[in-house]
Amino acid sequence: DNIIAREKVATTCCYCGVGCGVDAEVEQVANEPSKVVAVAGSQSHPANLGRLCVKGSSLHETQSSPDRLLQPMLYGNPVDWDTALDTSADKFRQIIAEHGPDAVAFYLSGQLLTEDYYVANKLMKGFIGTSNIDTNSRLCMASAVVAHKRAFGSDAVPACYEDLEQTDLLFIVGSNAAYAHPVLFQRIAKAREERPEMQVVVIDPRRTATCDIADIHLPLRPGSDAFFFNGLLAYLARNNKLDQSFIDAHTNGFDTALAQASEQCPDTADVAKACDIPEADVESAYKLFAQQEKVITFFSQGINQSSSGVDKGNAIINCHLATGKIGKPGSAPFSITGQPNAMGGREVGGLANQLAAHMGFDKPEDIERVKTFWDAPNMAQSNGLKAVDMFRAIEEGKIKAVWIMATNPAVTLPEAGRVRRALEQCDWVMVSDCIGNTDTAKLAHAVLPATTWSEKHGTVTNSERCISLQKGFLPAPGEARHDWQIICQFAAKLGFGKDFDYTHQADIFREHAALSALDNDHARAFNISAMQDITNNDYENLKPIRWPVTATAGEGTDRLFSDGRFYTPDQRANFVAIDARLPVHAASLDQVVLNTGRVRDQWHTMSRTGTASKLLAHVDEPYIDIHPKDIEQFHLIPGDLAVLANGSAKYFGRVQATESQRRGEVFVPMHWNNKYAVSSCADDLVNPEVDPLSGQPEFKHTPVRLKPF
Ligand code: SF4
Repeated sequence: DNIIAREKVATTCCYCGVGCGVDAEVEQVANEPSKVVAVAGSQSHPANLGRLCVKGSSLHETQSSPDRLLQPMLYGNPVDWDTALDTSADKFRQIIAEHGPDAVAFYLSGQLLTEDYYVANKLMKGFIGTSNIDTNSRLCMASAVVAHKRAFGSDAVPACYEDLEQTDLLFIVGSNAAYAHPVLFQRIAKAREERPEMQVVVIDPRRTATCDIADIHLPLRPGSDAFFFNGLLAYLARNNKLDQSFIDAHTNGFDTALAQASEQCPDTADVAKACDIPEADVESAYKLFAQQEKVITFFSQGINQSSSGVDKGNAIINCHLATGKIGKPGSAPFSITGQPNAMGGREVGGLANQLAAHMGFDKPEDIERVKTFWDAPNMAQSNGLKAVDMFRAIEEGKIKAVWIMATNPAVTLPEAGRVRRALEQCDWVMVSDCIGNTDTAKLAHAVLPATTWSEKHGTVTNSERCISLQKGFLPAPGEARHDWQIICQFAAKLGFGKDFDYTHQADIFREHAALSALDNDHARAFNISAMQDITNNDYENLKPIRWPVTATAGEGTDRLFSDGRFYTPDQRANFVAIDARLPVHAASLDQVVLNTGRVRDQWHTMSRTGTASKLLAHVDEPYIDIHPKDIEQFHLIPGDLAVLANGSAKYFGRVQATESQRRGEVFVPMHWNNKYAVSSCADDLVNPEVDPLSGQPEFKHTPVRLKPF
């Protein structure tokens, strides 16, 4: 009876990179705060067409957290905003004056909205004067970014989600899409039901839920993917299955790439040996790739989170370029991002080795262009420190102040225990987040309350380049503020107020769009020049749209490279000769290889999804998946606790016997932390090995010891 109003609001899900549209039903009750009472998948959003996974459909059940941060805190005590920001700005100013701008850093998150990301990147690179700004997206898709740039000249994802349904053959590589990108998996499964001729090959060391729809599962040796795709390139050439006219007209470097692949993987027997899978299965998968006209290779963290993730990405792209399977409906290499706005972060340049709007520090003209556009007084001139190196610099005392936004590196970075110790000794740690007691926030001097899903308002870009509005429709609770506002207010405290004087998110979006347009005649993939004059009203009613959005593509662009033109100076794609290699550390006889990943119903460090009993019902405690024969060998008992150890770091979990694991390899979920009496923080164990080009850590391959608890 007390219900005053009920309305439906169109927004987007805040979890994974699928970027589903959500219709939230908001109820206003007399004398109570408004709340979301139900959610449904948006029928009109191109990402999900009405679907939601269990995480998305529980969004309304995870709204209220007893740990919600409602007030700025300094040294654990509540303070007003001015005190928190003045004190933090003073610390930054002093440190910069004494040690230079490279002594400070920002660590951002793929959970931030594009407008938040844009102002943070502008403040750091243009005004503070350092590129020490990186993000947890480094852990997610940094390898794919470099692979795209090497092959296409720009960080360009060629395909859109419809291609997953239109293809005849889907290679799913290094991805448990059924758990990590559930709505895409649902779309693929439905397409397969409707078109039984469509075939699916899953390439993954584990037999995951994704294999339920596979015609072939190749449980290859962890990290051997580049051998597999080098072998495929050589196979295609041996069997006259190349698209020579496409190679001749649109690419460079084919002969060198083929020579390298053929030398390393001369026949399928060599591939079978390198990848430790039956030769007949290699042959079957290769034959399918060669025969089918429309092929998508869908790849994710199993490729990216590797010390050779960039090369693996390019080995995949090589096969598509060699057969012209790119730029056509149902044909492309397709990198799928983990986080909701990893792509938006890439657009603004919010990584330490990017500048802005797909420009980089490798071109002096780009630096000058951005400097002039921002009217920047302290323009950074070169790349900054990537995530793992950034926290190493904090440990070494070279970085003395860090601002961590909307992420929890004390749990999620490799050697997480070392990260915690580094933060403990850092001169100034600021955290802005919606939750006040994350493992990282506990180590901060200043903790700032930020808005979260349903309150924050701005754009996000999903894995298929689709920009959508994530709408704010509930008031910020307590003293929480939007991230972009906090950053702009901090900029003002540092004396840069006039350049961060935005009154609305749309002001920032217009500036971001205008920057993407500068001298961009097919020079860079990210281009939303047609949106630079968007009105506030059109911004508020933004319909999902895939970039590029230009004068000639005002309705957006479904797929790239349909005209055979790439973003390199000569507009030809590059083959990259790949010297395939295995992970840095091999396991000794008394060790097993640790692989980490997601469970279906949790997100990141569970600060939100861990509050819903429905989501915890799926898996409610840390576990270790182990092959039954390894259980015998290591004297374990299914259902009992076991310990994984790397040096002094330990992970405790319940033993689960499963033949989905290869012998000598174990899988653990990445979500849990040190909340319990014993540690179950998987990333405490992970070695800090990174890809030399992308800086992305090797989360999928750490040799560890295994023993009973
Ligand atoms: Fe949200 Fe991803 Fe699930 Fe879609 S698939 S509802 S974006 S978690």
